Amino acid sequence: RFYSTPINNYDHVSKILQEKESLGFVIWDVIVIGGGHAGIEAASAAARVGAKTLLITTNLEKIGEMSCNPSFGGVGKGILVREVDAMDGLCGRIVDKSGVQFRILNKSKGPAVYGPRAQADRVIYKSEMQKAIKEQPNLSIIEGSVSDILWDKFDKDANSQISKEESNVENKNYSIYGIKVDSVSKFMEMENHSRNSANQYTDENKQYSENYLAEKTLKDAQVNKKIYSKSVVITTGTFLGGEIHIGLKCYPAGRIGEDASIGLSASLKEAGFKLGRMKTGTPPRLLASSINFNKLEGQFGDKIPSPFSFTHDSVKFADNQLVCYKTRTNEQVHSLIASNFDQSIHIRETIRGPRYCPSLESKIKRFSSKTSHLIWLEPEGFPENSNLVYPNGISNTMPEDIQQKFLRMVDGLEDVEMVQPGYGVEYDHVDPRELTHSLHTKRISGLFMAGQINGSTGYEEAAAQGIIAGANAGLFSLNIGKELLVDRADGHIGVLIDDLVTKGVFEPYRVFTAQSEYRLFTRSDNADLRLTQKAYDLGLVTDKSRIDKLYQMIKNIEYAKSIMEKTTINPSSLQQKVNEFFNRLLSVQPILNDYNGKKLSLITVGDVSYSAEQLDNRRKVIESVGKDGQKRTVLDLVRMGILGSTIEEIDLLVARLVDQWEEIPYKVRFRCLTNEKYYFYLIKQESEINIYRKDMQLKLPIDIDYKLIGSLSKEEVEKLQIVRPSTLGIAKSIDGLTPAAVISLLKYVKA
Ligand code: FAD
Repeated sequence: RFYSTPINNYDHVSKILQEKESLGFVIWDVIVIGGGHAGIEAASAAARVGAKTLLITTNLEKIGEMSCNPSFGGVGKGILVREVDAMDGLCGRIVDKSGVQFRILNKSKGPAVYGPRAQADRVIYKSEMQKAIKEQPNLSIIEGSVSDILWDKFDKDANSQISKEESNVENKNYSIYGIKVDSVSKFMEMENHSRNSANQYTDENKQYSENYLAEKTLKDAQVNKKIYSKSVVITTGTFLGGEIHIGLKCYPAGRIGEDASIGLSASLKEAGFKLGRMKTGTPPRLLASSINFNKLEGQFGDKIPSPFSFTHDSVKFADNQLVCYKTRTNEQVHSLIASNFDQSIHIRETIRGPRYCPSLESKIKRFSSKTSHLIWLEPEGFPENSNLVYPNGISNTMPEDIQQKFLRMVDGLEDVEMVQPGYGVEYDHVDPRELTHSLHTKRISGLFMAGQINGSTGYEEAAAQGIIAGANAGLFSLNIGKELLVDRADGHIGVLIDDLVTKGVFEPYRVFTAQSEYRLFTRSDNADLRLTQKAYDLGLVTDKSRIDKLYQMIKNIEYAKSIMEKTTINPSSLQQKVNEFFNRLLSVQPILNDYNGKKLSLITVGDVSYSAEQLDNRRKVIESVGKDGQKRTVLDLVRMGILGSTIEEIDLLVARLVDQWEEIPYKVRFRCLTNEKYYFYLIKQESEINIYRKDMQLKLPIDIDYKLIGSLSKEEVEKLQIVRPSTLGIAKSIDGLTPAAVISLLKYVKA
């Protein structure tokens, strides 16, 4: 028995579904529970692969809501957004239409770790997202609250019902067939064209009409409290058993002002899922007009904003980017908070919070020697849409009066008005080792999970899992016999999912580039090359122009490479051109900058500044290469890595050396130079990827009794029992499984 292809055993629940259909109920291919970042991508992906999809969420108005920071991307996370976009997902395109400040983080480091990030207008993001999903064919949306999942216990071989205790992960004896609802109130009017001129459904178009199906389901569910479907994706975020904390106040809620989801937690427990508890928090929101920005240092977006979507050449508000500001906490703030630690429930360390986005209380407690922490004051949108500022870096759960007090101790915030206090939320999550790499639960056939429920944190991590779970749920229900699997070498989505399902989570999981062993290959600039074709082949990319653009880009990059390859430079001409170039750069009026307390002359190339000394050293390195008298192509020089450290620098020099270079669009030049700069490393990485992929293809049965492999320790047996690796590659990813244990496992399987 293997997990590898979808075990489409809904046939044993198909009797139930057929019976319900004959009674006139709508049978959905996919139901997605929750309209957060994971749910939106899941619902849209399922609908794109052709599945008749229902999204059910507690509040239609909140679809596309950013619970915390109004920003997308960053280091690692920005790559996830590009990867979601490469598979025709929504979030990248929507950020491009709503972003108020775009920046590439890590610009002075290599392109492998570039972190595209954008600050969005919260209101525009939500409304553009709602507009986009309303236009999605095959998708219907209902407002309602789900209390339970409907699943059947079934022993396929004995053809009889069995108890939960007898069933286990190995046997996958449960199958999903729908959901139970507490309440359903209304449906969202989709941009649906299947009505006649009198705005009525005709008999021929009824079954294809998203609105008709939603209306019918709504009416039935108001009476019956059940909705039927071949697969279900749960994406309930922080709402499962959610509990809000402000100071010593504590009450059930998923987000401020929104009810927690209690029933679902209980039903997952009842189905045998292992649940854990985690926490996260958000800072207070401040009234912009009450902040004295004049005192503070501004931070500006990039001169030319880089869009997230491969389908966009620019972003909507490129000429209207907003400024963020920088301030800091101080000793007075720290001392006030430290003397009130007993006023916060959230500070207890028994529940794990996000390590890389800790609350201010935990920073003060953990790093007691630090006298200040950075705060970024980020606008929540254009002034006509929001008068709020998000103080990034001070999420906290102190009582409201203490929050207001400490805020006014901060530079620039002396008169600040707090519009909403910061708060913390504690919630249930499912142990992600309950899932396969397609985010299909091992326990219940047809049940998928994505987002914060799997122990991750962040919009991007949620969206990334959403697209995978939604596409796979759709492919499962349509009985296509294929899965969308993204492995560690395909992208950071693969790293995220592999880490979740093989290692489990002990704190909220977020993506970093360092987690990827193939990060020189899985960069933000080439996500389309890595994923678009794969998604297109499964029907997930429905926008034909996207694939055309990809093919054109491949051609253009090849052309750029070919003209560098054709241009041969002899040492004397190299020396002359390089000298001219650096002399011109160095003659530009240098900018005086305070750098580590010293005054330095800095020359800016692209967005990066260099000292005159650094540039002169670069000139010497290039000149020394010419000394061996050998003729070289420009491509050789780029691959040797001597033309500059950043792509902007290399590009400027290549433009001096190759005649038609600047006729090629910068985007193409950038991508071509990035590939070539890493050329030798990429060759090495390719051979490592081949070994990894061989391991991933080597199938292991999942119903092994690991105890029979004599040489394994008790802990190793336990780890294997939890993950039940279906390939050798997955076995190797399991934390704490030694290479010797993996070899024993392999020998046992081959014996
Ligand atoms: P969500 O965006 O939470 O969406 C869940 C959806 O499910 C909601 O629409 C909800 O209405 C719906 N739902 C829930 N239960 C039901 C039900 N029974 N029936 C129907 N619908 C249901 N991320 C960071 O990266 N950094 C942070 O600092 C950070 N801080 C946060 C602070 C707070 C207070 C919160 C709430 C979240 C924070 N996040 C943070 C997390 C970020 O918001 C989430 O990671 C992201 O939104 C998760 O997306 P999701 O789709 O999994 O869930």
